[in-house]
Order: sequence, then C-alpha cells, then structure tokens
Amino acid sequence: MTEKLWDTNPQKFEELFDRYSDYPKGIIIKIATMIWGVRFSPSLFKTEQMQKANTARYFIFSFDMEKTDDMDEELGKIPTYFRLKNIDNHRLGPVVQVRPKNNSPYFFELINGKMMLCEQFPDDKEPKAIVEIEFDPKPDFNDKTDSKGEPFTNNASLIFWGEQLYCCLLRACQYWQGDLQCKFCDLNSIVINLRKQGINMPATKTPELLVEAIKAAQEEKENHLQVIFLSGGAVLDKIQGMGGLEWYMRFPEAIKNNFGRRYATHLQTVALPYDKCVELFEAGVDIHEANLEVWEPHLFKWICPGKEKYVGRDEWIKRLIKSVDAFGMGNVVPVFVQGVEMAQPYGFKEVDAAVESTLNAWDYLMSYGVTPRFDIWALEAGSSLWESQQDFYPPPIDYFLKTTRGAYDLLRKHHLPVARGYVGGSGGYGVHMFGQTAQWDFDEGVRYIKRDGSDAEGGEQE
Ligand code: SF4
Repeated sequence: MTEKLWDTNPQKFEELFDRYSDYPKGIIIKIATMIWGVRFSPSLFKTEQMQKANTARYFIFSFDMEKTDDMDEELGKIPTYFRLKNIDNHRLGPVVQVRPKNNSPYFFELINGKMMLCEQFPDDKEPKAIVEIEFDPKPDFNDKTDSKGEPFTNNASLIFWGEQLYCCLLRACQYWQGDLQCKFCDLNSIVINLRKQGINMPATKTPELLVEAIKAAQEEKENHLQVIFLSGGAVLDKIQGMGGLEWYMRFPEAIKNNFGRRYATHLQTVALPYDKCVELFEAGVDIHEANLEVWEPHLFKWICPGKEKYVGRDEWIKRLIKSVDAFGMGNVVPVFVQGVEMAQPYGFKEVDAAVESTLNAWDYLMSYGVTPRFDIWALEAGSSLWESQQDFYPPPIDYFLKTTRGAYDLLRKHHLPVARGYVGGSGGYGVHMFGQTAQWDFDEGVRYIKRDGSDAEGGEQE
C-alpha cells in the first residue's frame, strides 16, 4: 500500500478563506477549482448561459481529469473558462480554466437568473452558493467553417473573450515515439480519444488555414483579437519532409505576411540555439516559450525524458537565458507545470522545500530577464502520471498559493514586466485574463488582504 503523504481531498471554501485569510478569495477559488475540478449537472447544459458559452476547449492538452469514456455525455459541451464576478471588492475577478471532475464538490447552478459557483460536501444538507460567475462567451467563430468545409474549431480556438486565437500546429509530439513524452502530457493520447468520440482534431495544420482562421476571428461583431498563440509537439526527424524549425517557421511568416506585426505572436518550441531564435524573431515570433516544466535536475530527467535526451537540462537553461537577447525581456516565457515537482515517488515530499526550489529557480532565471509562467498541473487521464499519482494529486494547496504569490513578488524584485502578449495586458486583479496561472492576478492592491477591514500587514516586502 502506498503511503499517503498529504490530504488530497477538496476543502470547503469558508475553511480555505479562513486559513488563508491574507490571500484574495478569487485566487483561492481559482486554484482550488483547478486542482480539484468542477462538475456540471446534466440539467445545466439546457440553460441559456451554457448554450452561449464557448466550448472550444480542446486546443492543446485536454485538462480533463476524467477518462473521456466517463465523460461522453458532456464531452464537447463543457465551457473553456469562467470569470469570477463581484469578489474581493472588485467588479471582476480572475479568469479560471474549467477542469471537469465528476466527483468534485464544486459545481455551477443557475440561481435567480445568475450563474453561481456552488459547493456541496457530503456533510452539507444544502448546496452553498459561493460567487457569481460568467462563462467565456461563444464567439460566432465557433459556427463557421473554413474553405475545406471543416469547422474552424477543429484547427483553432478563439478564447478569453475573443482576445486570443490558439492553434496547436502539430498535435503529435515525436517524443511519444520512444515513450519519452513528458509525464504530465496528454497531447497525443487526447487526439485519439477525441476521435473515438467523434471530435476530429487534425494532427497537422497549414499556414493557409491559420490565416483563414485569423481572418474569421477578425469578423467577430466585437473584434478583441490581440494574441495569436501557436504551439505543438517536438519534431525529432522530419515532418512532411521538412525539419522541425523549417516546418514551424512557416506559420509566423504567414501571419507576418498577412497581418504585419499587429498581433502578439507566441510560439512554443523546444529550446533553440541563439541563431535559430533570431530567425524565429525575424519570421514574426514575438514571444517564445521553450517550456522547462520542472527545475530540479533529477526531476527534469524523470518528468521530461525526451527533453533531457535530445537537448539536456543545462543546455535548455543556457538557451533560455541567451534567447532573451533575441526576443527581449518579458518575451522569453518558459512554462513550469506548477505542482508536478511534488509528483511521487521522486518529487518533493515537503511543501516548503518544493516552494523554495521553484522560487530559487525563478529568481535565477529572472536575474537574466527570463519571465517564467506557471500552468497549474492538471492530472490528465491520458498522461503517464495518471495511474501513479491517484494518492498524491493534488499536492497541498499551500504549495500553489505560496509559489503563486512568490512568483509575483519575484517579478517585482527584478523589476520585470508581466510577460508580454498575454490577455489582459499588464496584469492585475480583475484585469489580467490568462486562465492557467494565478501569478498575474496579483497586484499591490490584493497581494495581502485582511478580511476584517483593518490594515493588511503585508508580510515581508522587497
Ligand atoms: S514536449 Fe513534452 S509537453 Fe510538449 S508535447 Fe511533447 S511530450 Fe507533451
């Protein structure tokens, strides 16, 4: 029997609010609903609010913490994101990614015409309404088809209230060929699972279809498009007869040739040598994300065996730091999977040690002008970690709260900008709109909160 290192059960919001009374409620809710998931009652799908919600959520990983077979009713009907309203004395609060989980105590319910996030635990007689929310609205884009007659949503998702177009260019990472995929990742498996359910996601995209999708996004009644986010799997050998970089480069070039440098264009690839980064920048990439995922050498080797084998951790870090000279400060944004360094058996067993490791890593990278970001770890059913982490997922919420506020504090310590090209611009509570991390939901007004109305003590200030 496996030793259980911490309590992985969801917790009541009132208890969390009391225990973490110096954190904004909105940030606690964001993290709690992302690590413990949310559920949807079948009747909710009939409401007008749900029918007007954006459901184009399979734009890269699934973020589904259930096997697709257990979700067949809801698959394709679940919204992408929701936004908290009227919270922490703010009209709008953080934007949160929807992560479905059938047995979560957190759920949505329509109460007096308002969509509410609610909770009900086994010892509760009645459900309890926590906060009003609104879903990311469905854009007209979702009902349109491209020149091949396929829904645009097979190729791209227009998300975050129309501000960002996300296109996963290659939904087949070649690290999976040798079973060297990152252990938290379900990129290749989700495509196969979705096809079984009739949701057809082509493995490769073309620059022509991407340009068509951008033009379709520009036709929205309220056109808010600002960010084009391009991602995809690693290429070891050739793809469609081209080397990986040559293949990927065609997409930012097509954007630049058609739209100039109007949109902040992100591209996620493996870490690249400096001269290749310069080529990418000149091709039209504004923000480069070569995701390091996890810091400690032994964990990188375990969690990211493909990255370790084909680039190596030290070389990856060297390339990240040098690439700031190509893209500029605030434009090199390696993702860390927040929480995966507590995966077992090799991960940290103590919260404080894990927090210290992560924040020391970020301090080091930020001292060179790199601006990392988190993706809060979702234990996806199609990932290699699914079976082995059932007793350990999620790590304690303390870990997520401490690393999130620590990330904000480090940004201030190093006088760095909020990473460029993210929805909601300069960040701040109720302004920032990126749903996968809460690090930019902090600002000086909510860094420490005192709920009884007295002055916040604010802890140690840089
Ligand atoms: S590089 Fe890792 S995280 Fe990215 S797609 Fe491949 S296996 Fe998944």
